Amino acid sequence: MVEPTNLPEFISPIDADDSFSFACHSGVKCFNECCRLLELALSPYDVLRLRKATELTSEQLLAQYIIIEQEPGEAFPRLYLTMNDDGRASCVFVDKEGCTVYEHRPGACRTYPLGRSVRRTGIGAYQQFVIIKEDHCQGFLEAARQTPKSYCYHQELTLYNQFNDAVMEILQHDAIRNGFVPSQLNIELYILALYNLDAFRKQLFEDRLDTIVLSHIEKEQLQNDENLLIFGIDVLHRQIFTGL
Ligand code: SF4
Ligand code: SF4
Repeated sequence: MVEPTNLPEFISPIDADDSFSFACHSGVKCFNECCRLLELALSPYDVLRLRKATELTSEQLLAQYIIIEQEPGEAFPRLYLTMNDDGRASCVFVDKEGCTVYEHRPGACRTYPLGRSVRRTGIGAYQQFVIIKEDHCQGFLEAARQTPKSYCYHQELTLYNQFNDAVMEILQHDAIRNGFVPSQLNIELYILALYNLDAFRKQLFEDRLDTIVLSHIEKEQLQNDENLLIFGIDVLHRQIFTGL
């Protein structure tokens, strides 16, 4: 059982195998209501997928659709999807038919109406779920039964969660918890290696990153975006926490 925490009334913890009634489809009255008035934080894997959906380069995507913000006291910046200035703060990717990037929609959109977090302890890491019952969401009136585990599976979240958990190893690193403040160079590398894959690849292939020299075979492997993101997470981890 997940321990109760100080959550708002409409959010409650739920175990991975506990069931709840929910379905979302274009026939619900609230169709697209959850694609407005939201703060949509993007993970590196979300940006990789949105790049595929939009066929933009990572630089174009960052310039056109993404806001980078760093709150005082936070070790790393957060990246948010911009919203339309239409009086309802609608997502830039929603139209009356639904999500225009559905196949590549971000992990948070797939996970809703659940929320997922990963808690690290001395003996390992485990995932926790919450269920978010907002008034506008009619999906809870549907008969279909789900569990967080089955819902995540059907929303094809496995790869999203794997990448997000790997990035979390940096964000929740003991050094960060103990007050380590990344340098400006660390933060620039964070954006470059995790969110700006096209520019990262270019700098790697042109041998412009001092400490990294790649073989021909490695360069071939890093033509693949997912491989490049895994490589970027590893480089970042090493450069920030071991200086290598
Ligand atoms: S990306 Fe798609 S699912 Fe997510 S908020 Fe935008 S329109 Fe909705
Ligand atoms: S508000 Fe709920 S039921 Fe309605 S479209 Fe969004 S997730 Fe689906």
